[in-house]
Amino acid sequence: MNRTNAIARLSTKEPWDLIVIGGGATGLGIAVDAATRGYRTALLEKNDFAHGTSSRSTKLIHGGIRYLKQGNFALVRHSLRERSRLQRNAPDLVAPLGFIIPVYSWTEKYFYGAGLKLYDLLARGSQPFSSQILNRAETLDRLPALKAEGLTGGVLYADAQFDDARLALRLAQTATQAGAVVVNYFPVTGLLKADGKISGISAIDAETGTRFELCARAVINATGIFSDHVRQLDEPGATARLSPSQGAHVVLPREFLPGTHALMIPQTSDGRVLFAIPWQDRVLLGTTDTPVAVATDEPRTFPEEIDFLLKHAGGYLTRAPNKSDILSTFAGQRPLVRSGNALTTASISREHTISIAASGLLTIAGGKWTTYREMAEDAVDRIALVTRLAQHPCRTADFPLIDRSAKRARATDESLLHPSLPIFASDVVHAARHEMARTVEDVLSRRTRCLYLDARAAAAIAALVAELLATELNRNNAWIAQQIAAFRLLATQHLPQGY
Ligand SMILES: Cc1cc2nc3c(=O)[nH]c(=O)nc-3n(C[C@H](O)[C@H](O)[C@H](O)COP(=O)(O)OP(=O)(O)OC[C@H]3O[C@@H](n4cnc5c(N)ncnc54)[C@H](O)[C@@H]3O)c2cc1C
Repeated sequence: MNRTNAIARLSTKEPWDLIVIGGGATGLGIAVDAATRGYRTALLEKNDFAHGTSSRSTKLIHGGIRYLKQGNFALVRHSLRERSRLQRNAPDLVAPLGFIIPVYSWTEKYFYGAGLKLYDLLARGSQPFSSQILNRAETLDRLPALKAEGLTGGVLYADAQFDDARLALRLAQTATQAGAVVVNYFPVTGLLKADGKISGISAIDAETGTRFELCARAVINATGIFSDHVRQLDEPGATARLSPSQGAHVVLPREFLPGTHALMIPQTSDGRVLFAIPWQDRVLLGTTDTPVAVATDEPRTFPEEIDFLLKHAGGYLTRAPNKSDILSTFAGQRPLVRSGNALTTASISREHTISIAASGLLTIAGGKWTTYREMAEDAVDRIALVTRLAQHPCRTADFPLIDRSAKRARATDESLLHPSLPIFASDVVHAARHEMARTVEDVLSRRTRCLYLDARAAAAIAALVAELLATELNRNNAWIAQQIAAFRLLATQHLPQGY
């Protein structure tokens, strides 16, 4: 993926079949779907790919036990089917993981045991292993850091985890290989119309300030929590449909949860689901569900969210974590679609919705990472029908998401940039040359997950990364200084205040 080449291709006058606004899971999935059907496709992202919610998820590819509890079996079944497809299509990015629900009474054991048998059934043979009721010793053997007091056993079930930002990048690479143009740092600022119908978009190359007008037969708004803003570019004054809700995570050292299994608490004191998940040699604690008034590019974890996660994890783990143990925090905003009488954001549907305006603009919002492929298929089927694009069947159900870009050249004696972070200088070079990384944040937050693994250590190597990137991107000392300052500020925002 090369940004200069992509922009040169955008400059051609030939109209696009489809322009996708937004480079998160939804937009990138649509770009892959449309390009593999043979449509001339362009995707424009205002920040970096997956800069929004799509790099800030809990990193589970799952049916969703919570939806089972809500009786939404169709969503669980679809999600489990998509999980199995994704494991087949991107086996290097999606891995099965065993989850254990600790139980403290016989009724709980059989209640969750029965629920998870239903989960197995809904997976229709695609579970990596069947759920099992564990006795107390078996539970503690698999989760040695779980408090033993009052424990009667556990229920073990299978799901999967992934690296969200890397999967997003893989989708961008796959779309590019299939002929699409995908560009980051390219905000869409307006919609072009002819006789009231969408005929293209106007956008800006944020690096140079150059303005572009691109003609297209169809435009899809896949801007997540910002989709009301784009709808309002189409229909000024259109009423907002989204109800953003924030979910926060805390990252801890691995010793808080040794072993190979994740801990799942189906109901905290206020009815939320809590996970403690082994991830990249750390432990991810999440998540919260806090309604927020305004959608923002860089949501910050609220102090009360950190307190909530630490307090509840402390109720289950032998060593209760405190603020000084935190390596990083991150929060994402859910683009939940408002529905009738839903009182709390946790009860609003996670299913996606598609709407088509009188102008032909298709807006897709909601859903989950797990179902991005099915959402893309739905959106492209609909837009093809509405805009009378030649009909081509969807090809993504069995389409391998393979990284065909140049392989990383790493000298055998190359050492890590920081002892506690999995990053080498050659990773920075590779990210700039082949993965369209443009900033220190792109490299440390999404091409690698250093910012999420240890915000202080990531800040400590910001200068090294800025210098390596500056050589690759031909930037000057002022750019290096600005990048270091911006990244260090961002890193402090990923830590609890005062730590
Ligand atoms: C806390 C949390 C945990 C979650 N955990 C999971 C999980 O474990 N598993 C799961 O399956 N799902 C999970 N989800 C849901 C999943 O992450 C989201 O459904 C998904 O990432 C949404 O993707 P999106 O592309 O619609 O939105 P986004 O990722 O937000 O992408 C929208 C993009 O549009 C861009 N954009 C906005 N305006 C413009 C413009 N004018 N021009 C160009 N670009 C623009 C933004 O910069 C952004 O990158 C979680 C969600 C949250 C909040």
